[in-house]
Amino acid sequence: MTIHYADFHIHTCCSDGDFTTSEIVERACQLGIDIISITDHNTVDGVSDAKNRAEQRGITVIPGIELSIDYPCEMHLLGYYIDIDNRTLLTYIKEKMEAEFIELLRLLHKIHKHFPGIDMDKFLKVRRVNAGSIADVLIAQGYASDRNDVQQRYLGKTGFLRVERNELKPAHGIELIRQAGGVAVLAHPGRMGLEDQELFEFLKELRKMGIGGLECYHASHNEQMEAQCCEMAKDLGLLISGGSDYHGLGRRAPREEPQQRDFALGILKPFLDEDCFLRCITD
Ligand SMILES: [Zn+2]
Ligand SMILES: [Zn+2]
Repeated sequence: MTIHYADFHIHTCCSDGDFTTSEIVERACQLGIDIISITDHNTVDGVSDAKNRAEQRGITVIPGIELSIDYPCEMHLLGYYIDIDNRTLLTYIKEKMEAEFIELLRLLHKIHKHFPGIDMDKFLKVRRVNAGSIADVLIAQGYASDRNDVQQRYLGKTGFLRVERNELKPAHGIELIRQAGGVAVLAHPGRMGLEDQELFEFLKELRKMGIGGLECYHASHNEQMEAQCCEMAKDLGLLISGGSDYHGLGRRAPREEPQQRDFALGILKPFLDEDCFLRCITD
């Protein structure tokens, strides 16, 4: 029996990970992981580089992406085997980046106006300006006590620094991946906060929209969650996937529960032939 060690959910510094694609490939090699997928948030920038490096090192890189989806709770959609040159996908990514940049400028302008004493240079020193780094600057400069405080006072639904996002609806996200030749997989369902039955009903809806798989193994899932997800995936004829959601080490906020922190690359059990996601897809 062939045993593959795989990790189908990895971030690099092309989105919010700490390591370059080359570093990720090297770490995967060191750990004996022979199949990886680079699934950066809303970008495919790291995929070609990872593929080139992986070829030299004799491991496989599956082109991937993780799309943010507009849904009442956190929803992410993974896309595997996508054509990274697909015009529609690239147009979407470009327009999203531009919209986010404009939104960021708007936000910084508001911060500058609302907190006249704030040292704006601090924003230039963070690697990636987002809700988390904005919160950290506000806390460091005494405008809030902690991230919860920032969330409640400024960034939350009624806060004046609320980030306006225009994400894809679930059906559009799935279609975007499929039209680029990919398989759409619902990411970390355990983090959506849905009851079992709600999740199952939601998956039925997603299947009608063309979703192909479920991320049953995720570093934030316990064994019970894994088993429930596998059962739902089998009932609905969805592929079973899994990954560590590796971003790097020790970067997340302390308020997050341990199981919500970053995880080691490739902590997953080996994917055996009978439930190997890769095998399901290539058969
Ligand atoms: Zn995610
Ligand atoms: Zn992720």
